Amino acid sequence: MSGPIITIDGPSGSGKSTISRLLADRLGYVYLDTGAMYRAVGLKAAKSGLDLDDPASLEVLLADLDLQLLPGSADTVVMMDGRDVSLEIRSAAMGMMASKVSAYGPVRAKMTALQQHMARNGEVVAEGRDTGTIVFPGARHKFYLNASAPERAKRRTAQLHELGMTANYQEILAQIEKRDHDDSARTLAPLRAAADAVWIDCTKMDIPAVLQFMLDKIREET
Ligand code: C5P
Repeated sequence: MSGPIITIDGPSGSGKSTISRLLADRLGYVYLDTGAMYRAVGLKAAKSGLDLDDPASLEVLLADLDLQLLPGSADTVVMMDGRDVSLEIRSAAMGMMASKVSAYGPVRAKMTALQQHMARNGEVVAEGRDTGTIVFPGARHKFYLNASAPERAKRRTAQLHELGMTANYQEILAQIEKRDHDDSARTLAPLRAAADAVWIDCTKMDIPAVLQFMLDKIREET
């Protein structure tokens, strides 16, 4: 029998990645960053020069996509078509590209199948937009993490600066608001909390407090 799956969904910049990584470490589980996968597809699309408003172009792009997520010491190492794209996919521009390509059915179908395959043995903390609703509807524990848009923009700007990238708070805020809208309004697998997810508003909570809250909930629900 496979081990439990924990899902953490929420909008951009809510702290999902940091918390998911820490929770996975704490429990000895595998961390599955589904956003990184959409970002990698976005990067491939950006480099391809294909017309992304033509769904057939994306089918071509997906046909020879070789995507692997390897657990790294600090962050997941993302290998695409044999190349380490871990840092390149983190730019704000690739966040926007990911949001664009992720609205296409064939992209979602391929990523969902890959994610389910990667988590086939359980003991996984998966984070994204639809992990609790579409990818792992039967997950043992589900969380929905949110924070106000200005707070998320502040955190995302700081995070990009830490990676040595340029980031302007006002621009990041505008991008976050656009992604919130696009990710929530799309027809396919929109950003939504699963009916059985535990909501956490972390606008005023620090990381250790969110982590402790989750660990307590998991213990309670086990
Ligand atoms: O979480 P992250 O910011 O890396 O995600 C980038 C984009 O990928 C999101 O804005 C969203 O459009 C898309 N995404 C998705 N489904 C997921 C994870 C990410 O559509 N499970």
